[in-house]
Amino acid sequence: MVFLNGEFIPKDQASISVMDRGFLFGDGVYEVIPVYNNQIFRLDEHLERLQNSLDSTHITNPYKKDQWQKILLELLKHSAEKNQSLYLQVTRGVDSIRKHSFDELTATVFIESNPLIPRTKTELEKGYCAITQPDFRWERCDIKATSLLANIMYSQQAKQHQAEEVILHRDDQITEGATSNVFIIKDNTLFTHPTGKHILSGITRDLVLESANACSIQVNQTAFSITDLMAADEVWISSSTREIMPITKIDNQLINKGQIGEHWSQVYDHYQQLKYA
Ligand code: PLP
Repeated sequence: MVFLNGEFIPKDQASISVMDRGFLFGDGVYEVIPVYNNQIFRLDEHLERLQNSLDSTHITNPYKKDQWQKILLELLKHSAEKNQSLYLQVTRGVDSIRKHSFDELTATVFIESNPLIPRTKTELEKGYCAITQPDFRWERCDIKATSLLANIMYSQQAKQHQAEEVILHRDDQITEGATSNVFIIKDNTLFTHPTGKHILSGITRDLVLESANACSIQVNQTAFSITDLMAADEVWISSSTREIMPITKIDNQLINKGQIGEHWSQVYDHYQQLKYA
């Protein structure tokens, strides 16, 4: 079952107009929200970020907070899975002719849910590979937009290199991953790029910072360079579906001799507690 414009319908019966601006231009925004043990995790934060994305693109939010919650909970009932990943998309709507500028339209809302099976700690402890690339995306990476062509190109490169993620740099500073936020530990301090227009303000990023604080790890939201990345004691990436993953090899070079760091383990454990709190 999926939700489309007010109705719960089987996925193979869900369809939209070819004049939907989401289809024509990628003119829409989205959220990915994890569900653990039937509880929607950090819903308020996701809805707040959705509102920011909608405001930035001048799309009218079709629902109030309690209406979103009701729809999401209803959709979840159609699956027996306790852990799910909700995908929620709002496009500007269906236009009469294809033109770049827009008038006020009725937004198209599509939501689906899929089982969420996060990797176990034992799996994660093997460590993951990443590659680096210049960040050629636009200057509004804070908007969670459905137009993801650059991110798609990066993700395909990662696949070709059998890497988990592409770590992006702009003017020699690491911004984020193509689908995640990036952190390093150096001399017991956690560094991550500050929020702003060059990164998506990840909900998991906030939880990583919250967990690091709880584990008495000093946090510094300052950009760091490629050299800092390669010389880091630990490198992690975070996202709602991948949680917190340790990266032990970048561009074929081992990080910390390929060893998983103790800080990752502490922060990971704390994050697991938050999920079920
Ligand atoms: N940065 C980018 C570019 C992303 O696409 C994502 C997630 O999809 C994130 C960061 C992490 O965001 P969150 O933790 O809210 O999933």
